[in-house]
Amino acid sequence: METAETKKVLIVEDHPDLRNILRRQIERMGLMVIQAKNGAEAIEIAVREKPHLILMDIMMPDVDGWEAARTLRSHPETQHVPIVAVTALFRESDLKRCFEDGCADYIVKPFNFEQLRQKVEEYIL
Ligand SMILES: [Mg+2]
Repeated sequence: METAETKKVLIVEDHPDLRNILRRQIERMGLMVIQAKNGAEAIEIAVREKPHLILMDIMMPDVDGWEAARTLRSHPETQHVPIVAVTALFRESDLKRCFEDGCADYIVKPFNFEQLRQKVEEYIL
């Protein structure tokens, strides 16, 4: 049953244009997309929908990506869902914090379709 199911990716991004670009790129990979526009929404949706992968923006108002990742790691429903930080941050300390807060990996903005596809396939295929 599981193998026939379309894999589901949760895109968490506060910027609408970038959210749309990500959505189109993920759909182009034949994957199902669900979306959240901030960290709080991401937690709620991830617990309910149990996506196979979460692409997590870091800089977002209120609940940022670090905090959302930490919460998702501590929640039994979502603790095993891989989180890939999608971020413009490139300081060593910021990326270190992504891993400390439970992200499995990161991709630095701006990225192209191939870079994103390779990263997504590492976790979802
Ligand atoms: Mg942002």
